[in-house]
Amino acid sequence: MNPLEAQLDYTFGDRLPELGTTLEVAPGVLWLRMGLPFALDHINLWLLEDEIETPNGRVHGWTAIDCGIATDATRASWENIFASQLRGLPIVRVLVTHCHPDHVGLADWLCRRWLAPCWMSAGEYAFARLMSAGLPGADGSAAGPHFRAHGLTDAALVTKLQGRNHYYQDLVPSVPLSYIRLQDGQRVRIGVGEQVREWRVITGFGHSPEHVSLYAEQDQILISGDMLLPRISTNVSVFAIEPLANPVQQYMESLQKYLDVGVAAGVLILPSHGKPFRGAHTRIAQLLAHHRARLEEVLAACVTTQSAVDILPVMFKRPLDTHQLSFALGEALAHLHKLWFDGLLERRLDADQVYRFVAR
Ligand SMILES: [Zn+2]
Repeated sequence: MNPLEAQLDYTFGDRLPELGTTLEVAPGVLWLRMGLPFALDHINLWLLEDEIETPNGRVHGWTAIDCGIATDATRASWENIFASQLRGLPIVRVLVTHCHPDHVGLADWLCRRWLAPCWMSAGEYAFARLMSAGLPGADGSAAGPHFRAHGLTDAALVTKLQGRNHYYQDLVPSVPLSYIRLQDGQRVRIGVGEQVREWRVITGFGHSPEHVSLYAEQDQILISGDMLLPRISTNVSVFAIEPLANPVQQYMESLQKYLDVGVAAGVLILPSHGKPFRGAHTRIAQLLAHHRARLEEVLAACVTTQSAVDILPVMFKRPLDTHQLSFALGEALAHLHKLWFDGLLERRLDADQVYRFVAR
């Protein structure tokens, strides 16, 4: 455990649900994990016991929060869950926090299998649809010129990154054809009988277009998605489709928003990666401090002219594989952009058509 983690309270210690099983973390709230074939090797999903109104009357079952990637292994793992963990009840609703493959990958499969509706924010639903369709500008081929313009002049590496053209589509081959919209501040009632909880939708930005967290104030539970993770910092990147994005600013404001809407210090946080924990205010302070420290390092490096590629060794001390390189570059650029939008850096396009930043 790193020293920052030691400041948090892992409510369930080292207990984890075995693959294909669940662990109850609050009355009517089950924790399950699905594998991922990345350095980040798992995602947490949640099943909330529920009862929803349908044209055929009320149906008792489960709301699934997030889905896992579209692989046979994840489908098999879900089949084990269906067979052994649902007490014979159906999935009645699928709620997706955001458009990233580990969260939305199997949403269409789950919704079709159970004839369940898909609940998402409009921003996340639209991005999932356009990336799953591999539309120009949102596919891998757009990444090459973007990275090249920010200093990745190694043609072989650019080709390799472009070769990841079908990355999203492989993990999210389809997205439900319709959805039910979640909006900031909305209250979603989930539960059965006496045990209905009102979950407040808190949208967040910087990590994805319109990320949804769910906060049950009465029971002090926050399903945080990827916005508040206990061990790793949430990725904030500038992507080709939005070249003038300022995601570090958006993410830092979104962290502050949890405090502004009154998320309490002792709330039980159910994150998408890592283990459930308490210490919301501590973790928010840690993450804000993390980004302020990165911003200071980047600004200090910009006493001389720097591209995003030049900044990589300043921000990342470890070697990066291709998968990590694209995220790291996006993240380096995100920090340069925040400093640029804050008026602390100037941006110029040099003779090689590479954007370079320098302190004012
Ligand atoms: Zn994500």
